[in-house]
Amino acid sequence: MSLIVQKFGGTSVGSVERIEAVADKIAGYRDQGHSVVAVVSAMSGETNRLIGLAHDIQDHPTPREMDVLVSTGEQVTTALLSMALNKRGYTAKSYNGSQVRILTDDTHTKARIKSIDGDRIRKDIEAGTVVVVAGFQGVDEAGNITTLGRGGSDTTAVALAAALKADECQIYTDVDGVYTTDPRVVENAQRLDTITFEEMLEMASLGSKVLQIRSVEFAGKYQVPLRVLSSFVDGPGTLITLESDTNMEAPVISGIAFQRDEAKISIMGIPDRPGVASQVLGPISDANIEVDVIVQNVAADNTNDLTFTVHRNDLQDAAAILNQVAEKLGAREIVTDDQICKVSLVGVGMRSHAGIASKMFAALAELSINIQLITTSEIKISVVVDEKYMELAVRGLHSAFGLDGEPESVE
Ligand code: ADP
Ligand code: ASP
Ligand code: MG
Repeated sequence: MSLIVQKFGGTSVGSVERIEAVADKIAGYRDQGHSVVAVVSAMSGETNRLIGLAHDIQDHPTPREMDVLVSTGEQVTTALLSMALNKRGYTAKSYNGSQVRILTDDTHTKARIKSIDGDRIRKDIEAGTVVVVAGFQGVDEAGNITTLGRGGSDTTAVALAAALKADECQIYTDVDGVYTTDPRVVENAQRLDTITFEEMLEMASLGSKVLQIRSVEFAGKYQVPLRVLSSFVDGPGTLITLESDTNMEAPVISGIAFQRDEAKISIMGIPDRPGVASQVLGPISDANIEVDVIVQNVAADNTNDLTFTVHRNDLQDAAAILNQVAEKLGAREIVTDDQICKVSLVGVGMRSHAGIASKMFAALAELSINIQLITTSEIKISVVVDEKYMELAVRGLHSAFGLDGEPESVE
């Protein structure tokens, strides 16, 4: 008998029929004697619908009111799922984030969980009740409702699993595991039986939204056994592991991640002297704009060009700030491009294999895809390319690195 935290994402609870199917799945686990805590998302499309309503009223609603609004989606699902379980003869109780006391900081719309009071849940579990918790939300010290950022129900589930010392945290979604790349973009992507926390963290932060980044961080930190599975079809899913696959045949590259919605901004001809990078990037970070890839190049005439990427939504604000900075520093010009994307190779095997970067660049060259920026770390290589080549690049690299799942790839 074990304690399992099961999270069901938007499509998994997207209709009454889907909620009934989830209730059947939970009932099956209860019948085997397991205790279940279910964490649910809003029904698919609901969070976006609520955000749309807000923007019909105000361009920039306060983050506090946004949180009050968007947190309602999850609450609806908790009650409906509890009813579906009750109808089947199982006791079930729904709770929202503040009732379970998922205490967060006060950063509305992207709050971080500080603690969870597991006592109430534990009592219910001991009484044989299925506890159904609203994902994505919490409460700050002052009692304000907060939310955890898009995809945040994953993090609620992992945090609950850590707090309750659950035997496993199962993330049920609309694909049957973590794939070598998004199976909606590359149809011969392959499901991975296992992936390390380290690799999953890179995949998530480089654009694979199958798990929210923070949920992976949390699972790694508290060593929560984490599995991604389909709520539509049965199967083993993908287990996120601490250790890498020591099998000699294990592929060097585990996956390919990609991110649309990026933008590039360059400040050209800055007089080159110590401190200019911080004078350029300081005001950007003061404005809470997240900077990703950064490249600086010194030209022969003692000026330098600094290029960096930001989320496309932040481009206007970043450009406005840089125009002021450019004037102050005497830089020549600002150039922006909002038609770029980032494609990344991820794999712990890169540590022990040379030549991955050159193989990647050669594969892209063969496809006549121009690389604009490159950044590497121990277990990933990312390139920024024109957005129109994104799918071509991902498919080409997937095949070049032997990740395709078609029979011809089997020697
Ligand atoms: P949920 O609503 O259940 O939280 P999400 O839409 O947030 O589901 O995440 C699941 C989606 O993640 C899949 O439908 C798939 O398109 C996408 N995805 C991106 N990269 C990957 C990957 N490497 N493996 C599996 N799914 C991926
Ligand atoms: N409903 C929220 C979202 O759409 C949280 C989640 O589903 O994880 O982002
Ligand atoms: Mg999600």
